[in-house]
Amino acid sequence: MIKKVDHIGIAVKSLDKTLPFYTEVLQLPLLGIEEVASEKVRVAFLKAGETKLELLEPLNKESAIAKYIEKRGEGIHHVALRVDSIEERIKEMKEKGIRMINEEPKTGAGGALVAFMHPKSTEGILYELCEKKGMERDHG
Ligand code: ZN
Repeated sequence: MIKKVDHIGIAVKSLDKTLPFYTEVLQLPLLGIEEVASEKVRVAFLKAGETKLELLEPLNKESAIAKYIEKRGEGIHHVALRVDSIEERIKEMKEKGIRMINEEPKTGAGGALVAFMHPKSTEGILYELCEKKGMERDHG
């Protein structure tokens, strides 16, 4: 059911401050920057081969990313697993006793459908299931 690690989400205080490390030191191509108003974040995607890095900058203090940084500091926030038929995967997870943060998929960056699994159900990792509907943008 899992296609690949689609991306790794990294919480940062400032994209402007952090991006040069990725684009100049690591020399990863920047795929785009996008604001996801529903999540109150600004997101930058970098291409690291088959996988992407998703830098998440909070837009304000209400953002879950702002709260995360306040509690744990900057760093790895989640791992995103690419799936097909996300509704079915969510159902399957629930049948296996996994607690979902999102019981219905929501629209994330790049128009992907996403649903997070609760870290209490996954031995401490915040996993995101994500599905790219139709438009196979190398993004999100
Ligand atoms: Zn993500």
